Amino acid sequence: MDDSARVEKAARQVVEEHDPKKVPLREFLGACYDAGVAWVHFPEGLGGLGVSRGLQAVADEILQGAGGINPFAINPIGHGMAAPTVLEHGQGDLAAQLLRPLASTEHIWCQLFSEPGAGSDLAGLATSAVRDGDDWVVNGQKVWTSLAHRARYALLLARSDPDAFKHKGLTYFVMDMQAEGVETRPLRQMTGQAEFNEVYMSDVRIPDSHRLGAVGDGWRVAMTTLMNERSSIGGTSSVRGVGAIGDAVDLWAARPELRTPVLRDKLAALWTRAEAQRLTDQRARRSASTGSPGPEGSIAKVVSAELNQAVYEFCMEFLGPEATLYGDYTLRDIGRMEDYRGGIQQRFLRARANTIEGGTSEVLRNVIGERVLGLPGDLRADSGKPWKEIPRG
Ligand SMILES: Cc1cc2nc3c(=O)[nH]c(=O)nc-3n(C[C@H](O)[C@H](O)[C@H](O)COP(=O)(O)OP(=O)(O)OC[C@H]3O[C@@H](n4cnc5c(N)ncnc54)[C@H](O)[C@@H]3O)c2cc1C
Repeated sequence: MDDSARVEKAARQVVEEHDPKKVPLREFLGACYDAGVAWVHFPEGLGGLGVSRGLQAVADEILQGAGGINPFAINPIGHGMAAPTVLEHGQGDLAAQLLRPLASTEHIWCQLFSEPGAGSDLAGLATSAVRDGDDWVVNGQKVWTSLAHRARYALLLARSDPDAFKHKGLTYFVMDMQAEGVETRPLRQMTGQAEFNEVYMSDVRIPDSHRLGAVGDGWRVAMTTLMNERSSIGGTSSVRGVGAIGDAVDLWAARPELRTPVLRDKLAALWTRAEAQRLTDQRARRSASTGSPGPEGSIAKVVSAELNQAVYEFCMEFLGPEATLYGDYTLRDIGRMEDYRGGIQQRFLRARANTIEGGTSEVLRNVIGERVLGLPGDLRADSGKPWKEIPRG
């Protein structure tokens, strides 16, 4: 049996034995893990079948076609970023311990990277990790941490050697968000929702067995996370006309009285861009091998973020004065994930974050210029200096 047929058989068996419309979500997603269709390119026994990453589309079509929820929608950081990072860099049986509850969404994950003084310049971060016996002791503050208030585990990047150059003195950990000394405070976005948080760490102890990669090699591990983040955020549905462009078409269909020829032209142009992106993404996914995605994932991320914004701007223009009607800015949790996208005005407001989260479009254009096109590097005034000598605001 060829690999594609194996994937198809495994996915069909899951939906026959654990009908996603009838069984609890965690049971269905746990069964996907056990059958090797959570991430088909992962090894057998760890949620995969050891086949090409491109065959995930074969599994997803069957699983989602039967009504299964895409786990990325519930546990985006866990499913899209933590799983490949733990698999590639975890010690001993860490991946075996952590991946199944991650895949079933029993454990939600978050990403403790950004700090008040380190966003685009992530390698400048200041949260410290100091070795103490078999543990590390962590102190510092993170910010913009999506889903920290729901997370059981975090991907943490911290400074273990302030005397080293900024990219060299970092070490990467999996942190238990229920550990003593972790404090999570919600931050309200302009939608009113508190999707992300500030996270304070005061003498939090992390066992050395939860370190990913070598001491001082955290930047390389972070690259695995960031490349997977960009390609998973930038990835589109394989189904035509869903997502933002589907919202615009639905709005167009629902409100014939608001249509004009000029708006029709604009919608047609956006549809064409969305199709070009979907087909490019599909082609890239099908030709992807088993390894980690490379810097070219940044292209999909830039394109999808800017397209999303353009589509929701079109929706607001289409609605005219109605676009300004938005009822509730009070601080609230994101609610059930199914409700998370809210009404069309909320989606417009949320889309403003698309060109910031997961790396800003400006910074990703630098990544594309330097690492895909081979253009000369950005000016870096602090290169070659130990981190502790770099002036900080
Ligand atoms: C909705 C949302 C969710 C997020 N979730 C998480 C999360 O879960 N975990 C996490 O760790 N972080 C998260 N972030 C943070 C995100 O990664 C950062 O906001 C982002 O990397 C930008 O960093 P900054 O906000 O510090 O902006 P800055 O780095 O201060 O950038 C400010 C401006 O300067 C520009 N700029 C900076 N450097 C350059 C350069 N070299 N060349 C050209 N222009 C430049 C930027 O493009 C931007 O316009 C989230 C952000 C958002 C909006």
